[in-house]
Amino acid sequence: MFYPDELIEEIRYQNDIVEVISQYVRLNKKGSSHFGLCPFHNEKTPSFSVAQDKQIYHCFGCGAGGNVITFVMEYENYSFVEAIKVLADRVNISLPEPEISEEMRKMVQYKQQLYDANKEAAKYFYHQTSAPLGKKAYDYLNDRGIGDETRKKFGLGFSHFFRDDLYQYLTSKGYSDAVLRDSGLVLEDKNKPGELYDRFFNRVMFPIFDIHNRVIGFGGRVLGDGMPKYLNSPETKLFDKSKNLYGLNIARTSRRNNMILVEGYMDVISLHQAGFDNTVASLGTAFTKGQSNLIKRYTSELIIAYDSDNAGVNAILKAIPILEASDISVRVLKMLPYKDPDDFIKGEGPERFEEIIAASIPSFMFEVEQLEAKYNLSDPDHKTKFYQGIARKLVELENEIKRDSYFEAMINRYNMNPKALNSEMEKIGKDVGIVSHKREDASSSEGKIKNRFSKDSIVVAQKNILTFIVSHKDIFEAVRPYIKPSEFVDGLYRQVAEIIFELYEENLEINPAMIINKFVELDQQNNVAQVFNNDVKVENGMQFEKMVNESVQILKNAYIDKMSGQVTEVNDLQELIKVKRELQDLYISLNHG
Ligand SMILES: [Zn+2]
Repeated sequence: MFYPDELIEEIRYQNDIVEVISQYVRLNKKGSSHFGLCPFHNEKTPSFSVAQDKQIYHCFGCGAGGNVITFVMEYENYSFVEAIKVLADRVNISLPEPEISEEMRKMVQYKQQLYDANKEAAKYFYHQTSAPLGKKAYDYLNDRGIGDETRKKFGLGFSHFFRDDLYQYLTSKGYSDAVLRDSGLVLEDKNKPGELYDRFFNRVMFPIFDIHNRVIGFGGRVLGDGMPKYLNSPETKLFDKSKNLYGLNIARTSRRNNMILVEGYMDVISLHQAGFDNTVASLGTAFTKGQSNLIKRYTSELIIAYDSDNAGVNAILKAIPILEASDISVRVLKMLPYKDPDDFIKGEGPERFEEIIAASIPSFMFEVEQLEAKYNLSDPDHKTKFYQGIARKLVELENEIKRDSYFEAMINRYNMNPKALNSEMEKIGKDVGIVSHKREDASSSEGKIKNRFSKDSIVVAQKNILTFIVSHKDIFEAVRPYIKPSEFVDGLYRQVAEIIFELYEENLEINPAMIINKFVELDQQNNVAQVFNNDVKVENGMQFEKMVNESVQILKNAYIDKMSGQVTEVNDLQELIKVKRELQDLYISLNHG
């Protein structure tokens, strides 16, 4: 930490969260919380809440959350130290020279240099487009219909034909070879060790921003016929392709209530220019779980507008389950005969694009259509296989209402026999361990996947336990003999558990805002804040006790499973098996009252 913990805590304590946030957001008191329109995503009804007792804020819409320091970091785009300075100033606390280990200081400085080098490079590329040598790039963008305003908004630029002009420029600005190498902007000549040259040349440059508007990498499109057509920055300390989306820094504040996912940089830019500022692109790789989680922070409906070719269709089929696992409802856009959104906008204009968005189809229908295309329905064998495919897809739908309506839709569309479809579904349900829903029996509400300990349930169990013990000391006392912080399988929750256990053991007062203080990175603070906004609904003491026990069981089982994969000694494995057996009899009773 940069300053002593006690000082940070004092600064946080003196800056009442409701007072500070009220300077930025109009808040209304309702019950014990204050509500307002979230400053981190666009909304018409307030889902942003500030709890004065816990001194934390949370948005139910986008998942933003933290304490007063987090808020200032997130709102003003400040680092932890910058936020501390502002808040200390606000309550007239003077700060000493930061207490910080040499190692930590170097690490933070180094990362800042990487951000600065990327920003400097983006500025350099941008200015080249208005220089005589960059005319080629300027003309290219112009030909593609990109105006000056859009060029500026996205910081589009040009990298020269020279071998090392960016390297020379950044060196003259004082950046070391090590920083430039780690930024991914330059490469080392294999034949001449130590000699560095630019990664990008003769390319139109697309800076890639993170959600805090910091440049973290680049995409470059070659001018002319060079290969590869598109080149991205490599993975660096700042740039992780699987956790970022191109255009999200702008799309996250869009007034539209869904997002459009496209393949390329040009699609994003062209759609934004046409008024669809809710468009993002995956960064030249397959769509990932990390990207899906990121989208879920801002919207729960996504429209996929990938290229109309086979590769595009296959990529859509792969992305759908990933998105649905994040609880995002997915629709698919049809643009034929155009090959991509950029093409479509140029050919038909924004109004028509608005129309095809309205006509986009739900992912389920898209998947069924793709399945249908594989079969010749006048052949009875093919037809059977196609129907079985539909049954399988229906069984996989977890939501019962959704399953019912698609069941109906399928029967009507393909003229299927409901009884036959239903019995097929039941058969499949048994095979894959899913209990199929019986349509004739309205009282039956089965239909859940048997495996209770999914990855999500392990996350929920860890959050629940942390939520319980942080707010009730008696529950902490009751579970303490049975769980250890080291048993939390996710690193962040493990850290939170360690902090809570330590505070209790030292008999110190405990509060969520203080625990958030122990984390410097904004993303970590958001995640820790979510632990404390974990809305656990229980009706009575018995139900509560049951939930505590279930959570403990899941937590310990997950830990044992994790350890069984790691131990190599037979004795250790036997010990784990023993613990697992004892776990069956473990029951923690809580004193109600
Ligand atoms: Zn929000």
